[in-house]
Amino acid sequence: MKILITQYIPTEGLRDLLENHEVIMPETGGFTFEEQKEHIKDTDILLSLFNSPVPKELMEVAPNLKMISNFGVGYNNIDLNYAKERGVIVSNTPDPVTLPTAEHSMGLILAVMRRISEMDRKLREGKVADWKVMSNLGNTLNEKTLGIIGLGKIGQATAKLAQAFGMNVLYYSRNQKSETEEQELNTVWVALDDLLRSSDVVSLHVPLTAETKHMICTKEFQLMKNSAYIINTARGPVIDEKALANALENREIAGAGIDVFEEEPKIHEKLFGFDNVVLTPHIATGTIETRIETAKCAADNIMAFIAGEEVPNRVL
Ligand code: NAP
Repeated sequence: MKILITQYIPTEGLRDLLENHEVIMPETGGFTFEEQKEHIKDTDILLSLFNSPVPKELMEVAPNLKMISNFGVGYNNIDLNYAKERGVIVSNTPDPVTLPTAEHSMGLILAVMRRISEMDRKLREGKVADWKVMSNLGNTLNEKTLGIIGLGKIGQATAKLAQAFGMNVLYYSRNQKSETEEQELNTVWVALDDLLRSSDVVSLHVPLTAETKHMICTKEFQLMKNSAYIINTARGPVIDEKALANALENREIAGAGIDVFEEEPKIHEKLFGFDNVVLTPHIATGTIETRIETAKCAADNIMAFIAGEEVPNRVL
């Protein structure tokens, strides 16, 4: 089989693939789209990454393409309608990215509520003249309410970490969990508007779909408490970024921790101007351990497909 990997990923995770198949992967960085179009022509399997598009234009020049093993849990980068039409199997890598993403969500909650990034930045700039007891105050996490939107794998992992900090957790998803599951997770379902009204922190963990695009817009920010924070490690377009900037400007919310953006790598200019916003460049899964585990998971999906077995983590 010929396998195209569009960006360099750790080879520790790819041993079986490299030993047994023809693998094309850049030595560093990533192939340009034009290079991908060239390499994919006689490719059987594509190992693509969550941060680069796999449109019809790329798939249609690959008559042998049978499978796309996407590196990452989100797969909104792939034209699924066309893949389906072509009968191309698609898989993702949910398990390795669950805990790191939840860790990053907690990191953003801590950074924004305890003003860690802001104080670090101001200290370096010589702007913290005032070390008095009633200066530079943030908010305690303990006993605050965390509203999780999308209580899937990452939402649940975030709930557990937040509970260790003494937070109470509410959630909203389209489907309510069973009573037993809710008891185990120590959380209750509430309608979206109620979650927005009653949470001190709202954290997003839904996939990007037609339904979730701009799920958080002007009206939703107006429902939130003025003292509440919003955290997004899901996908940028779930929040209307312009509405976020307006909500911060009008002090409708207290701050934000944002890892993903509407038009990555572009960021709405106004967001750079707020001290109560923590921005990270889509690094929620960015640890070396996670990259190795994710590469291994994407490769295992491929090996199962080649062996004619059921593909684990198949999404299409
Ligand atoms: P998951 O296990 O599939 O969970 C997604 C949750 O969203 C489910 O509970 C689902 O429940 C809910 N949901 C889906 N559509 C919804 C809607 N329209 N309204 C309300 N709830 C909805 O996925 P996951 O592994 O937790 O990952 C979630 C997302 O995080 C991924 O899709 C990815 O885009 C993002 N992510 C980002 C990073 C990063 O680097 N920043 C890393 C990993 C993942 P119902 O079906 O009951 O609604």
